Amino acid sequence: MIAPAEERGLRIAVIGAGLSGLAAARMLADQRHRVSLFEKSRGCGGRAATRRATQPSAETLRFDHGAQYFTARDPRFQRCVQTWAERGLVAPWDGRIGAFDGDSFTPAGQETTRWVGVPGMSALGRALAEDLEVRLQTRVRPPRWCRGRWQLSDEAGQELGRFERVVVSAPAPQSAELLMDAPRLAAQAACVDYTPCWTLMLGFAAPVPLAFDGIFVNQGPLRWVARDSSKPGRWAAAMGPAGSGNCWVLHAEPGWTRKHLNDAREQVQAAMLAAFATLVDVAGGALPAITWRQSHSWLYSLVETPLEEGCLWDPALGIGACGDWCNGARVEDAWLSGEALAGRILAAMASG
Ligand SMILES: Cc1cc2nc3c(=O)[nH]c(=O)nc-3n(C[C@H](O)[C@H](O)[C@H](O)COP(=O)(O)OP(=O)(O)OC[C@H]3O[C@@H](n4cnc5c(N)ncnc54)[C@H](O)[C@@H]3O)c2cc1C
Repeated sequence: MIAPAEERGLRIAVIGAGLSGLAAARMLADQRHRVSLFEKSRGCGGRAATRRATQPSAETLRFDHGAQYFTARDPRFQRCVQTWAERGLVAPWDGRIGAFDGDSFTPAGQETTRWVGVPGMSALGRALAEDLEVRLQTRVRPPRWCRGRWQLSDEAGQELGRFERVVVSAPAPQSAELLMDAPRLAAQAACVDYTPCWTLMLGFAAPVPLAFDGIFVNQGPLRWVARDSSKPGRWAAAMGPAGSGNCWVLHAEPGWTRKHLNDAREQVQAAMLAAFATLVDVAGGALPAITWRQSHSWLYSLVETPLEEGCLWDPALGIGACGDWCNGARVEDAWLSGEALAGRILAAMASG
């Protein structure tokens, strides 16, 4: 379907090294195009992220504070996940999953395979970026269309190069800004909304007495809580001198997060912790001593109003956008969107 690239491939910039950007970059680089990936943060993987914390005891704690796990429903994505599993980058999480309605707990169906990165979600992004040219800590300004090429610069005004094609893979509101010189695509990106999410990461001195490792919470400020150290590969990684590995991640409910987005961190932490303590209390236990805590607010967590486009592509300008928001709201949607955009770029070349 795709004509093999010539030895001298196109110069292609990919803005954003989340899973959609990585999918696009890998596919284009596999066709021998000269791909430069720009990422504003310190690592690759985007919202499939892991926070590491070193305790005074020298114990390293890991928390997946963004995406908790991912599913693979599309056969194309299933094949990718299988190869990642064979390389040891991901593994199924066999955690006991339940739901809490405020009074009682019920087990959730275990028929879905829940995949996680090993030893943390960010391991996947890191591995997928390995043989690509990546510039981290580089926040790209909106690319400018100038004499038949896209000119990129960073926020300090430093030139990043001129490119024949550009892939924008940031969350939709940020993509809308980056697509300033492609107004048709920018208008589509501007229609997409996200839910925000306050996240609280907690390390405990002893196991939290809950019969579940992941709980969908349907009442109060919380939406989801997870015993992160029950995921594969975490326990060994978290085993330090104290050997506790009792790491939990709490996600707040979107409406509650919106209401408290600008509250002081301490206040948010206290409210989320109190809700968690109530949940443990209903289960008949009490929270052990906390050894570590940190919160993070995600302004863009899950897409509320995704497009049904797969990806966006302007063949006349040679610029496109991909990301979960083009396709759905999940890791799988992000990956397939990145591949879809790379496919559009390659197909456009093949047809001249
Ligand atoms: C709290 C939370 C819970 C979630 N839970 C799940 C879950 O359980 N299962 C699931 O499947 N999905 C979940 N998701 C969603 C999942 O993480 C996303 O769908 C997926 O990771 C999106 O990938 P992406 O590549 O589209 O975007 P991102 O991962 O957001 O990647 C975009 C990248 O672009 C970079 N960027 C932005 N602007 C610029 C710029 N100007 N210059 C350079 N770089 C830039 C960003 O730093 C980022 O790395 C969750 C997300 C959050 C936040």
